Amino acid sequence: MKIAIGQIHHEANSFCVVPTQWGDFDFVFGEEVLTRWRGAGMMISGMIDVLEAQPGIELVPLLAGVAPIGGSLVREGFDAIVDAITTRLQQADVDAVVLDLHGAMLADGVDDPEGEILATIRGIVGPDVPVVIGLDCHGNITRKMVDNVDLLDGYRTYPHRDYRETGERVARLFVEHLHGLNTVRHLVRVPALFTAGSYDTDKPPFRDVLDVLRGAEAAGIILAGSFYPVQPWLDIEMHGCTIVVTAHPDQGDAAAAIACRTAQLLWDRREECRAEFTAPADAVRQARDMSGTIVISEGGDAVSGGGCGDSSVLLQALLPVSEVSSAITICDAPAVDAATAAGVGATITTLIGGSLAPQFSDPVRIDAEVVTLGDGVWINEGEVMRGFRNDMGGAAVLRCDNIHIVCSRKRVMSWDPGVFRCMGIEPTDMKIVGVKAQRTLETTYGDILSGVFWLDMPGACTANLTQLPWQRIQRPIWPLDQDCAYRATIEE
Ligand SMILES: [Zn+2]
Repeated sequence: MKIAIGQIHHEANSFCVVPTQWGDFDFVFGEEVLTRWRGAGMMISGMIDVLEAQPGIELVPLLAGVAPIGGSLVREGFDAIVDAITTRLQQADVDAVVLDLHGAMLADGVDDPEGEILATIRGIVGPDVPVVIGLDCHGNITRKMVDNVDLLDGYRTYPHRDYRETGERVARLFVEHLHGLNTVRHLVRVPALFTAGSYDTDKPPFRDVLDVLRGAEAAGIILAGSFYPVQPWLDIEMHGCTIVVTAHPDQGDAAAAIACRTAQLLWDRREECRAEFTAPADAVRQARDMSGTIVISEGGDAVSGGGCGDSSVLLQALLPVSEVSSAITICDAPAVDAATAAGVGATITTLIGGSLAPQFSDPVRIDAEVVTLGDGVWINEGEVMRGFRNDMGGAAVLRCDNIHIVCSRKRVMSWDPGVFRCMGIEPTDMKIVGVKAQRTLETTYGDILSGVFWLDMPGACTANLTQLPWQRIQRPIWPLDQDCAYRATIEE
């Protein structure tokens, strides 16, 4: 049995000013897909390992690539992805397709790229070849996606820690039904947007929503039930959280009832997910007086949420207390160039910050010593996306008094402490560590942090959704609109 396998991972943010290009994906093709991800911690790794352990299965690797979260993918890039899949699938004559997708991609002129990709695949393989996908629960799930697959499931944790486990679960469920995957899928949309800092799947109400789905799985009503709290920063018409259940056709009505009940429960308890944030100067002042290493989250500029990673907001709050030891990150290519030209040990005067998204923070003039220069490459060693290779495209550590700024040429997802360690900085040596990430840092810094503050700050992934310049999103939607009536129904 030949099973095509692939990965296309891109999460878009409509408010990110940096468009995504084909070259932003670290694509590999054919056998390299397997050598890169076999045994690692990504969703596709779990899929590969479960499928390869089955006798009689031959994997046909298509492509695998992850792009940093950014603006909409340029149209040529999207067309190139569709072409790459089409060409390989047409040559392969496979018996099934298994994919690791994100679900919140955007391309120029295409609001539902994953739906388009899946419809293209369905057009090639026909109605009888199973198409099975795993998704990030921050995906924006559409009817087109659901209609063109036989089985889908998403991460069940946020902060995420079940990348590989989700791949294993999807692959096992598929293997159990290897000779007859006959399903119905129901989708219910909830007109609500939650920011990443405002919830945790281990706590109510999200835990209660997930418990209903787990109960329905245990009772045999559904094969898989997923709750997608969606990435909120997508300015497209069809947006919102979704509940998706996959069931045997004879359980279709009962499965639909579970999906509606779960969606209504989420809606009724949405007010429990309002987040608390601290002003930058207050966070720095409080952190200074606490014991241990304190993490300050610049979540509004998290590259993993669509920020540019160039915000100077925390730096500006640190400068008045620069004697306190701290380490932060700022993406600023010209500053890296200036540091490289000057060399290690030199003192430079440079502008830093606000170089990519000046609407969210201002450049700051600093006098700094160039402490370290490096290529800025590291492999994630922690629980989150273990094995993923990060590349800052060249980096410098600039020091102002006791503030250590890891300055990168490229935007990187900097929730892994490796961003500091690869440049010779040990986060535990610092009083304050600035991390441009949202709740994921609770997993990546779990062993280190003595406390955490979530900054109230402007940015492409700010938690204050009402401040963003929305244009296309269908209203009403909570929390942009407070007075919405809602009754959960299956989306047709
Ligand atoms: Zn996610």
